[in-house]
Amino acid sequence: MSEIRHFKLTCIICPLGCEIEVKMEGDKIVEITGFGCPKGRDYAIQEVIAPKRVVMSVIKVNKGDFPTVSVKTDKPVPKELIPVIMKELAKIEVEAPVKIGQVIIGNVANSGANIIATRPSRKVLPVS
Ligand code: SF4
Repeated sequence: MSEIRHFKLTCIICPLGCEIEVKMEGDKIVEITGFGCPKGRDYAIQEVIAPKRVVMSVIKVNKGDFPTVSVKTDKPVPKELIPVIMKELAKIEVEAPVKIGQVIIGNVANSGANIIATRPSRKVLPVS
């Protein structure tokens, strides 16, 4: 028989922020308490089994009115892919203009998520 492990989480799905406790024996969930609704229960299961996050960062923009634009994944990705995604983002540079919601990288790191721009950048014309 494996040792029982306890995980305490604050649900971030809604502003109530329920304190949820998950008990696991080996890789099996044996009890979940403290959730106020099924969404919170699902969130807690996801967090202990395979946590995911939305990744937010900035990328370089060439010839834009700002040198960078903010970007994010359009859905949460497995936490273990975050360093891989951050490395990809550090390497790329896009040409202005950039529109809000524009897909910058499709299926980033084979995560099934796209990197999208969350801020626009206008093209700056060279002064002659
Ligand atoms: S468990 Fe449900 S009610 Fe509680 S914070 Fe999460 S979403 Fe909100």
